[in-house]
Amino acid sequence: MIRKTRLFTPGPTPLLPAAQFAMAAADIHHRTPEFRAMYTRVLSQLKEFVGTKNDVIILSSSGSGAMEAAVSNLTSPGDRVLVLTAGKFGERWTGITKAFGCHVDVVSAPYGSTFSLDEVKANLHLETRAVFVQATESSTGVRHDIEAIAKLLKSENSEALLIVDGITGLGTSHLDMDGWGIDVLIGGSQKAVMIPPGLSYLAVSARAWDRMEATYNPRYYFDLRKERKNAAKGESAYTPPVALIAALGAALNYIAAQAATPEKPEGDLAEGRKKLVDNAITCAAMTRAAATALGLKLFAPAGYEAAAATAIVAPEGTDSGTLVKGLKSQFAAIVTDGQGEMKGQLFRIAHIGFFDYMDTIAIIGALEQVIHKTKFPAPNFTFGKGLVAAQTFFAEHAK
Ligand SMILES: *Cc1c(COP(=O)(O)O)cnc(C)c1O
Repeated sequence: MIRKTRLFTPGPTPLLPAAQFAMAAADIHHRTPEFRAMYTRVLSQLKEFVGTKNDVIILSSSGSGAMEAAVSNLTSPGDRVLVLTAGKFGERWTGITKAFGCHVDVVSAPYGSTFSLDEVKANLHLETRAVFVQATESSTGVRHDIEAIAKLLKSENSEALLIVDGITGLGTSHLDMDGWGIDVLIGGSQKAVMIPPGLSYLAVSARAWDRMEATYNPRYYFDLRKERKNAAKGESAYTPPVALIAALGAALNYIAAQAATPEKPEGDLAEGRKKLVDNAITCAAMTRAAATALGLKLFAPAGYEAAAATAIVAPEGTDSGTLVKGLKSQFAAIVTDGQGEMKGQLFRIAHIGFFDYMDTIAIIGALEQVIHKTKFPAPNFTFGKGLVAAQTFFAEHAK
């Protein structure tokens, strides 16, 4: 058969065609009224996409740059901070906070699980200045309960800022930054917003802006206060990724248009975002139903599965790499193996961003083909079991 490459990875994710066209046409200088108008519009759209009244800052970096900016701008050397980690991206918080001289307390849960709130509470001290966590841990396919963590901080009257890596949580889970009291919420371009890597963004609460008045860790390029000052004038401090900003505008228009009505043909971004989240939740649930019906185990605990990506344990006796390679060689479908120590044990199928019913059914069908070829399909494997489960879920639940 011919090969049609498709990404099923939790970043980079498939590109939205309208965003690609916008990139190609973005031949404008960044110190012009044209750029200022576009930047101002995209920043205000981003606020609606994040679902916050807080200022949103765009940085020229991959997601980790915004993670580093959150640490460098909001801590001082010696600050006591708490990192909650249960995977490769959680470990990145530990690495960055240590690099910036913080005194780091760590609550770590095994890969494939989430934290006990009691343990979080036991590690929250009077002096804790900030708590760092992922909304969804992309390396394990687990969703952390940010609402419960935010509630805990409130009930403990903690002064700690809650800093959330929402890089795969945004667009796949219903996060309420202002309602729950998240202080920093971070996103990245190559995830839910369907554009290439290279741009990150973060929403910052009033409390966090206040904190920056006193913190003194070194920062220069990623100086959030400088970026905020410039953003108010429709500019960025340095040359911005103009093409990505144009792409982001197109993608946010597309997301808004998912909620178009005859009265409002351009749609509504807040409603469109909810549809995008529900879309990922549906694709993820179809995939879980299919995997289970095929006799495969899910890596995330029930109720805590991330809608960004489904982590599936390889059948007993099979290296997950065999399935990853099989999907690529037979169908040009790119899924990801486990990261680090999880390599060989699990594979991940993404639902974040520009994936729909068609994509989901296709990857399940391809997965059946690839599993059929291994030596270890479930004892009573037959074609279609995964598809039937996914179809049934869709017919009964999807709107
Ligand atoms: C993709 C991702 C990141 C950022 O990685 P970059 O390669 O720097 O863009 C951070 N956290 C999570 C949870 C991610 O999925």
